[in-house]
Amino acid sequence: MNTVGHLINGQMVTEADRLQDVYNPATGAASKQVALASKETVEEAIAAAQAAFPAWRNTPAIKRARVMFRFKELLEQNADRICEMIGEEHGKISHDAGGELQRGIENVEYACGIPELLKGEHSKNVGPSIDSWSEFQPLGVVAGITPFNFPAMVPMWMFPLAIACGNTFILKPSERDPSSTMYIAQLLQEAGLPDGVMNVVNGDKVAVDTLLTDERIKAVSFVGSTPIAEYIYSTANANGKRCQALGGAKNHAIVMPDADMDNAVNQLVGAAFGSSGERCMALSVAVAVGDEAADALVAKMTEAMKTLKVGVYSESSNDFGPVITRQHQQKVVGYINSAETDGARIVVDGRAPEVEGYAEGFFVGATLIDGVTTEMQSYQEEIFGPVLQVVRVNSMEEAMKMIDDHEYGNGTCIFTRDGEAARYFSDNIQVGMVGINVPLPVPVAYHSFGGWKRSLFGDLHAYGPDGVRFYTKRKTITQRWPSSGVREGVSFAFPS
Ligand code: NAD
Repeated sequence: MNTVGHLINGQMVTEADRLQDVYNPATGAASKQVALASKETVEEAIAAAQAAFPAWRNTPAIKRARVMFRFKELLEQNADRICEMIGEEHGKISHDAGGELQRGIENVEYACGIPELLKGEHSKNVGPSIDSWSEFQPLGVVAGITPFNFPAMVPMWMFPLAIACGNTFILKPSERDPSSTMYIAQLLQEAGLPDGVMNVVNGDKVAVDTLLTDERIKAVSFVGSTPIAEYIYSTANANGKRCQALGGAKNHAIVMPDADMDNAVNQLVGAAFGSSGERCMALSVAVAVGDEAADALVAKMTEAMKTLKVGVYSESSNDFGPVITRQHQQKVVGYINSAETDGARIVVDGRAPEVEGYAEGFFVGATLIDGVTTEMQSYQEEIFGPVLQVVRVNSMEEAMKMIDDHEYGNGTCIFTRDGEAARYFSDNIQVGMVGINVPLPVPVAYHSFGGWKRSLFGDLHAYGPDGVRFYTKRKTITQRWPSSGVREGVSFAFPS
């Protein structure tokens, strides 16, 4: 069985002490193994990144950008292979993997503009013969820790920009689907990146804790579940590191009585069940305003869901694939059971889907639950599966209060034809990313991505302009070149 190792100082390193199985979630069978790095292996990667930093930091930004241009080309040339790898280990259908990869590539395109992005600020004559400017310097060795659900895109939220800014990088990808991430890192190496600038260590808590406590790591970007995000943020901060930790979500869509219901249903189907609901921006709760809207929504959703196909990644007519592990499949089914026990109505039941030829796969079918209330566990917690819950309310104010009261604040959306209502909603809702008739308002690469409340710990959002600020520190230099012959006396007053 093949083993996915680590990329350290430009070399593939294998480690046999601790190995973990990697599954094909469609067949339910282990297809390869991943090495779990020891503390010593992670320290080796940190040492390589630290050694590579001085030369990389001093490489002109335009030359760093050229590596990113070549990297983008290699990603495009090898897109099919990357999507295949994502499908084999994550389970998402090829068209969905292609969308994820494209979003990742857009972050590389943004990083190609680094000479422009790193331009500083300059003020002439802030005092007699005194000029002042601010520049943005790289931090040093920075680390990224990423989740299973976007093995290509989420790492590319981080390392292209961090490296383009002049940092060196250590990535700790998800141990559940490591192959596409590793292949992408090898393509970056092939694009001409000097050894040690980009390192990948596979692993678990041992690797993560080493990154969080080693003083040579200057900043940590994390994306994953909220309990781990909170742990990462507090541990990184306690160890003096800059940190941005993006966590879980429960994204609500308000369906107003005046919404174009057919459009809303089409959008909701894709946003709730696409990628088996394993997206941090998946719409998992539809908040219908008024019973008439709720009845129409449930009826049309039920109809639309009849043609949905769950199955293997390589069959492009499938709409979505399995969930990531057997354990997660059982967890998702457990949430559906709990909603039923708590008195909600299972309108479309995906607990036992039949997928011909893949009886052992980790499949959950699309599920629609009506009559959900805010006290239910299935409402309060992130399910991360193909489950859409409908909550009925009487007014938009009630819907907004419900969203604001939820612990998560990643994404949300409103379906309406009323511009005034949409404007009020986007202005006041306590959520970081808002859609108006747009179900998955994932910001493009030249904006930044981040939720509010317990969906993000830290101040700066991921990628885009915030990413440049996160991966650099400002230095402000004040310089005087007095004209010859001018001498000033001693002054004890504060300079003004
Ligand atoms: P996860 O939190 O289990 O794992 C994320 C990373 O943390 C992995 O690399 C994992 O190895 C590591 N990790 C796990 N347990 C750890 C521990 N005890 N100590 C140290 N490190 C640990 O998340 P996941 O299941 O891989 O991904 C799904 C979650 O990620 C969902 O909650 C989803 O909402 C969230 N997510 C959020 C965003 C966002 O932008 N907000 C994007 C994608 C995914």
